[in-house]
Amino acid sequence: MITMTNVYKTYPNGAKAVNGISVTIKQGEFVYVVGPSGAGKSTFIKMMYREQKPTSGSIRVNGMQLETMQERDIPYFRRRIGVIFQDFKLLPKLTVYENVAFALEVIGEEKSAIRQKVAEVLKLVRLSHKTDALPNQLSGGEQQRVAIARAIVNKPQVVIADEPTGNLDINTSWEIMEIFKEINKQGTTIIMATHNADIVNTFRNRVLAIEGGKIVRDEIEGGYGYDS
Ligand code: ADP
Ligand code: ADP
Repeated sequence: MITMTNVYKTYPNGAKAVNGISVTIKQGEFVYVVGPSGAGKSTFIKMMYREQKPTSGSIRVNGMQLETMQERDIPYFRRRIGVIFQDFKLLPKLTVYENVAFALEVIGEEKSAIRQKVAEVLKLVRLSHKTDALPNQLSGGEQQRVAIARAIVNKPQVVIADEPTGNLDINTSWEIMEIFKEINKQGTTIIMATHNADIVNTFRNRVLAIEGGKIVRDEIEGGYGYDS
């Protein structure tokens, strides 16, 4: 499903963000990525959806080889990946419906199918009653649920989330985790970078700890392992 082999990433300014990572993540796994700030977590995650290219090494995701992928094939590859950010990245002038529908319009989905799929996914994230709201009329947790809806409406095999609860209070964070749990139960792989020790220690999943651009711990139902 996702395989990295001897992956290194050095940025043009010389920062060595990833220093030899080899890892395999199987379809349906739920994986936390933890570690101190600057450890290389974001870089590790960005390479999985081809936001960053490795300096060397091999990365295979959904059967596609990322380090040699042509620019023109990236949009097609990304359709099967859902990405969720700490700061939501919703389009501010579009309604909840339009933010989610947009992901289907760009792939040329028919209007009636779009209507049905958006309604279905908004129900899953419990936002049916906010269909016509604008992002700035929503709480942080609601905005993140819209972002999740947008990320999963195409039924991607993999969802990648970089600090998805980083801007949310603890109660709202649990709601987001319940949704991730539900999506994962349906077979979607979830990879989530987080600094939230409570979440990692309570919803037990595989833990990859990264320090200095290397995986220093890989545990099946691991704990957070750092002071929070
Ligand atoms: P984390 O997500 O664990 O905080 P990052 O992957 O963001 O770690 O960063 C790892 C290292 O790479 C840090 O030293 C950071 O400053 C550096 N870095 C991250 N992104 C860039 C970039 N675009 N250009 C240069 N250096 C970067
Ligand atoms: P993004 O918006 O791509 O997720 P971030 O929010 O992590 O990026 O950081 C903002 C910008 O600064 C990005 O382009 C990122 O690559 C870059 N960046 C992060 N850390 C460094 C660094 N140490 N040196 C140079 N650029 C960096």
